[in-house]
Amino acid sequence: MAESDGPRRRIKQIEVMVSETIRETHDTTTVVFFTGNDRLDYKPGHFLMIDPHQFPALDRFTAYLEDQKGRKEPPRAYSLYSAPHEQYLATTVKEETYQSGVTRYPPLLSPLLVNRLPVGTKVVVTGFTGPYTLPDDIESRTDHVVHICAGSGSVPNMSILKYAQVHHPTIRHTFLYGNKTWADVIYAKQLRAMRDAHPDTLTVVHALSREQKSDSAELIVHGRVSSELVRTYVPDTDSAEFFVCGPGITKWDTLRAQEAGTTPSPRFLESTLAVLDDLGIKKDKIHRESYG
Ligand SMILES: Cc1cc2nc3c(=O)[nH]c(=O)nc-3n(C[C@H](O)[C@H](O)[C@H](O)COP(=O)(O)OP(=O)(O)OC[C@H]3O[C@@H](n4cnc5c(N)ncnc54)[C@H](O)[C@@H]3O)c2cc1C
Repeated sequence: MAESDGPRRRIKQIEVMVSETIRETHDTTTVVFFTGNDRLDYKPGHFLMIDPHQFPALDRFTAYLEDQKGRKEPPRAYSLYSAPHEQYLATTVKEETYQSGVTRYPPLLSPLLVNRLPVGTKVVVTGFTGPYTLPDDIESRTDHVVHICAGSGSVPNMSILKYAQVHHPTIRHTFLYGNKTWADVIYAKQLRAMRDAHPDTLTVVHALSREQKSDSAELIVHGRVSSELVRTYVPDTDSAEFFVCGPGITKWDTLRAQEAGTTPSPRFLESTLAVLDDLGIKKDKIHRESYG
């Protein structure tokens, strides 16, 4: 749904410093930034931008990719994992990979952010913005927020969840989180701790598409997010409000499909929106963010 960002926000550049890097999984790292005295004016769900040109270690690679692609490399967007009431600013980045014959170019920025960003590095970030935020009037809209995410799509939803637990404590949350395997689950410990602290208002369901796993401390199902799964855990589909975030069809997928005379295959975002459409959920109850 198209949402307003409220009165026009001043997007500004700020210089921050990496104060901690936390390895979350084999290919994701949470980067925590020290921001000095800058006032951080953002909403849960917002993202910041990082321009790859600021990293001297990437200079030659950036120049080469720009020659190959025939255009300047743009800044990349990263959702905030931190919530506005928290002292620190943080994002979690998943390393993209180069798959021979599948991806056209090697990824530029995410490998550096995930693996090669020492504590103390100064980084210029631009922010904070984005339409995927928790509405201020959420309590008058619903008493049940359903998060449906895949992979690093959980990043803004964690910010929304943390914020809502403090500012809208009566709202229930169901967090349906899709990953290939348990090893890919970001924030497994944090989600468990939040659920244990708020057992009446938070349910976390892990949907693993490539692993059969059972764990008495977790709610794990095998498969992808399906109509059946949503129906099981969200009986009140008419009144719940949905926040869906994860990989969607990229413009590169669309271009490749056009070249091949086909249509791009739906990814997580398109498949999940189709599931919600099947269940008759109204579009104005669905917030979405595509990482495509
Ligand atoms: C709103 C938003 C929020 C996001 N938040 C997060 C987050 O919190 N965490 C996170 O990990 N990611 C997030 N992302 C994704 C992130 O912005 C980057 O896209 C991701 O990190 C990959 O960047 P990269 O520089 O490593 O790869 P890129 O260099 O951008 O490459 C990625 C893919 O695109 C292909 N590609 C690039 N250029 C071309 C071209 N010219 N022609 C054909 N193919 C091309 C490459 O082959 C590769 O497969 C977010 C994206 C959006 C839009």
